[in-house]
Amino acid sequence: MRLNLDLDHRTVLVIGSPRASRHAIAAYRAAGASVQLVSGQAGPAGVRRVDPPGSLDGWRGLLSAADLAVLVEPDTASEPMIAEAASVGSTWIAREPAAATAPIGSVALVGGGPGIEDLMTTGAVAALRRADVVYFDRLGPRDRLAEWAPGAALIDVGKAPGHHAIPQQEIERMLVDSALAGDTVVRLKGGDPFVFGRGGEELAACRAAGIPVTVVPGVSSAVAAPAVAGIPVTYRELSRMFTVVSGHAPLDEPRLGHLAGLGGTLVVLMGVGTLPHLSAGLIRHGMRQDTPIAIVERAYSDSQRTTIATVGTVLTAAEEAGVRSPAVIVIGEVVRLAQDDDASVVELLRQAAEPGL
Ligand code: SAH
Repeated sequence: MRLNLDLDHRTVLVIGSPRASRHAIAAYRAAGASVQLVSGQAGPAGVRRVDPPGSLDGWRGLLSAADLAVLVEPDTASEPMIAEAASVGSTWIAREPAAATAPIGSVALVGGGPGIEDLMTTGAVAALRRADVVYFDRLGPRDRLAEWAPGAALIDVGKAPGHHAIPQQEIERMLVDSALAGDTVVRLKGGDPFVFGRGGEELAACRAAGIPVTVVPGVSSAVAAPAVAGIPVTYRELSRMFTVVSGHAPLDEPRLGHLAGLGGTLVVLMGVGTLPHLSAGLIRHGMRQDTPIAIVERAYSDSQRTTIATVGTVLTAAEEAGVRSPAVIVIGEVVRLAQDDDASVVELLRQAAEPGL
C-alpha cells in the first residue's frame, strides 16, 4: 500500500548507514520532513546525525521525539528495541529498502602543484587517470584536465555563477556523496592539499562518512613560487628556517611580534590584501625597514611577475606595480638572491648584505 502523507515539519528518523539510507533520506527530505540519521557514520550535510542508542531507554527517548522511524538497515540487536520503544509511544514505523550498493568509491585528495603540468607528481597524474569525477578549483593545473582524466566528470568548485566559491561544507558533501555513489573521486587542489588547502577538513569529512581516502601531496607554492623567482627559502649563511604564514586575515599583535623577531624567511600566502597591515606591523615590532621583500605573482604562468622592494617601501612598490592575488610574498635576506633584472634588485644587491641572523 502506498500512502501519501504530509510530512511537512515532521521529525523522521532514518535508521541505517548513510550509504544504504541515502535514497530514503532524499525522499523524506523532499517530502518536507525534518530528517535525522541514526547511524554511527556521518550522513549528508544538513542532516542531523544521532548515534544509535545502546539501550531500550535510549531508543524510547529518541523515538518519543519523532513522528516516524524509517528502518533501512538497523542492526539485529537494535531492531527489537526499536519495535518495543515504538509500541509504547505513538511513533510510526516504516521500512525502506537499502539503496542499491554499488561498491563504495574512494576519494583522493591530490595536490596539483602551483599550476603547470611539469610540477604535477606522477602520483597526481595516476590518480587523475583513474578518476570518475574530478572536483577542481582555480589555482591547480587545469588546462588539460580532460586529457589527464579521460572519461571523468569535471566539476569546478572554485567558483560558481557570480564568482562566489562553493561553501567548503558543500564541497565536502559533494565528495562524500560521489564516493558513496561508488565513484573514484579526485579532489584536485593547487599546491599541496594540506597547506592552506582545507585538505584536513576534507580528509575528516571522508573519514567520518567511512569512505576510503588517500592523500597525494603536491608541490606547494610556498616553496615553488619563491623558487621560480630565484629565491631559495633557505640558504646556508642567510636563512636557516622558513615560516609559512596565511595572510588571509590580519595577524594579531602578539603574532606580528613573534614573526618580526623570528629571523629566517617569512613566506606569506594569500597576503596581498593584508600587506599594509603586515608590513606596518612587522616594522612596529622592530623588523628593519630595509629587510628585502619579494612579491611573486601568478608563478609559472605567462604573466608571472616579481616585484622586489624592502619592507619599508613595499606598499608604494606594490601599488605602483598594481600587485594582485594570487601572489606569494617572501620576506628576508634570501630575497637578495632573486634572479631578476629589475633595477631595484640590483640596488639591493649593491647594498652590503647584512644577514642579521
Ligand atoms: N595549497 C596551496 C595554497 C592555497 S592558498 C599551495 O600549497 O600552494 C592560495 C594562495 O596560494 C594564493 O593566495 C597565493 O598566495 C598562493 N598561490 C598558489 N598558487 C600560486 C601561484 N601559481 N602563484 C603565486 N601564488 C600562488
